[in-house]
Amino acid sequence: MAALTLYDTMARKKREFEPVNPERVTMYVCGPTVYNYAHIGNARPAVVFDTLFRVLKASYGKDAVVYARNITDVDDKIIEAMQETGEAMSAITEKFADIYRADMAYLDVNDPNIEPKATDHIGEMIEMMQALIASGHAYESEGHVLFSVTGFERYGSLSRRSLDDMLAGARVEVADYKRHPGDFVMWKPASDDTPGWESPFGRGRPGWHLECSVMSAKHLGETIDIHGGGMDLVFPHHENEIAQSVCAHDGAPMANYWLHNGFLTMGSDKMSKSLGNVVLVNDLAKQYPGEVLRYALLTAHYRAPLTWNADLLAKTKRSLDRIYGVLRRLMDVEAADVSAPDAFIEAMHDDINTPKALAEVFAIAGEANKAETDEAKAIAKGQLLAAGRLLGLAQGDPLEWFGLTDMDPAKRDEIDALIQSRQDARANKDWAAADAARDELTKQRIQVDDGPEGSTWRRLD
Ligand code: AMP
Ligand code: ZN
Repeated sequence: MAALTLYDTMARKKREFEPVNPERVTMYVCGPTVYNYAHIGNARPAVVFDTLFRVLKASYGKDAVVYARNITDVDDKIIEAMQETGEAMSAITEKFADIYRADMAYLDVNDPNIEPKATDHIGEMIEMMQALIASGHAYESEGHVLFSVTGFERYGSLSRRSLDDMLAGARVEVADYKRHPGDFVMWKPASDDTPGWESPFGRGRPGWHLECSVMSAKHLGETIDIHGGGMDLVFPHHENEIAQSVCAHDGAPMANYWLHNGFLTMGSDKMSKSLGNVVLVNDLAKQYPGEVLRYALLTAHYRAPLTWNADLLAKTKRSLDRIYGVLRRLMDVEAADVSAPDAFIEAMHDDINTPKALAEVFAIAGEANKAETDEAKAIAKGQLLAAGRLLGLAQGDPLEWFGLTDMDPAKRDEIDALIQSRQDARANKDWAAADAARDELTKQRIQVDDGPEGSTWRRLD
């Protein structure tokens, strides 16, 4: 079986995945800042890294993978939301963390093993800043603590930018209290009417980058296997996490593999709150099964851009109809206890190539359709379900998918027979009989969808 390879942003190439300790594989993904609803672009990293989490568990054992995804529950945007709504910080963050969890559960995203909250780690953050100040990597200035980027030679190695590029890009804030314009804030002063914590540097609150450095080290270790997030986090967020962590941990790398998902776009624009072109998971959930949304997110390779539109969702629904059509036909077959076929696993092991893996799912569906013996059917069904488990798809009840759970089984059989008679008539070029069967189906308000694996149907009302 092909080994798992992952594209490492630091190396700018695919590398074979070798965990430090195969009995404790560690992954940290930057989680949401909880002050409003997640859009479907925010769901992309959650679904992509959940899929990787499934692959890792299948390879190393269910209990051998430790996945942490944090909750950022203190941030300028949360403070803005407090000022707008008059609500307490914890009321806002708890509400939106719950909504985020429910939205992700709707997409069948498994809970991470650890979900650390930034505000539970203020003490450790203060300790990390003190250590960095003591070693000369950070300094205090006017109530702030800043990281001194010129003191870390490898600064810019993840994003491959020089300090000059960063300054020219004007993505750094020039301020009087900084020694160098590229220095970034680890702690900033808080006014009495905003959330803050007492610290040796005065009352203040932590910077976002510091939160992740501390939580990753505390829960997973100084050097972890995989650190992930969206591509927009490469600079400055992950670059700054690396600077803090490497300097606080005697040069130990923060992560051995850096993974970044591409953007979900609306037309050619990134979906983002600032552009105002967002579609919320919470709203989509009212219109589509979670599985359609999850499948749609997996149709593109995770590093490629993915254009979100109604056409994608319509195509996705048809694809799932085909899969559930096969599973419906195999409903009376007990699935064999088999793993997914090698070609499917190879696609997943090739940097989580989900488009290729989905093509392999249809190859299995084709086999299932051709299967004549009970044994062949049982194996095909087992393979389909095993592949689906790794993707987080095709685990539902086929009758439910087609909205047929509360239909009288005799009626279902009758319609199945009608559809079969239509197919037989077409095969015999008996167009009159085929039309008659179609008319009867229309009269009974049945919609038939013909696909490569055969026909599926659902009730129109
Ligand atoms: P934010 O709330 O903007 O901090 O984003 C939370 C997570 O979603 C981060 O990992 C971002 O990189 C990711 N993200 C935000 N917008 C998109 C998008 N349009 N496509 C893919 N990932 C995104
Ligand atoms: Zn982070």
